[in-house]
Amino acid sequence: MRSMSRVLSSDKAEAAMPETVEEVLSLVRSQGGRVTTSRRLLLQALFDASGHRNAEELAQAVQRRAPDVHMSTIYRNLDELEQLGIIVHAHLGHGPATYHLAAGAHGHLVCEECGAMVEAPDELFASLSRTARSRFGFDIDPHHFAVLGHCEACRHQHGHR
Ligand SMILES: [Zn+2]
Ligand SMILES: [Zn+2]
Ligand SMILES: [Zn+2]
Repeated sequence: MRSMSRVLSSDKAEAAMPETVEEVLSLVRSQGGRVTTSRRLLLQALFDASGHRNAEELAQAVQRRAPDVHMSTIYRNLDELEQLGIIVHAHLGHGPATYHLAAGAHGHLVCEECGAMVEAPDELFASLSRTARSRFGFDIDPHHFAVLGHCEACRHQHGHR
């Protein structure tokens, strides 16, 4: 179970998407993090996949290049990189959490039937955000969990809605 105690800060920088893994690594250093071989490989794997890889998939990518890196090291690195604000996790359904670079974080719409996923820009949640804030004083986090439903193809196929 991943940590649910993540601090939600509103000043989560709208940083520009890093274009190379070196930029990601210098971000780690600027946040006071160390760049170890396993971290470098982990961030490389995440960068190459541009998100949506779970811990096990990331571990496989790392272990292809460094077979001696343990799963526990992967989990520890994921936690620490998340605490540094370099990466974030998202839950797209019942399976394990997937990871993104924090700079590229976004919401998700996931089809409950076929698993199709749409990356949802923040503007999609803007009016929900405003209403939740004004009526309930509640600050929504549209990135952490996906919004589930039915994709266009499945709706047509089954004729619902
Ligand atoms: Zn979570
Ligand atoms: Zn579908
Ligand atoms: Zn995503």
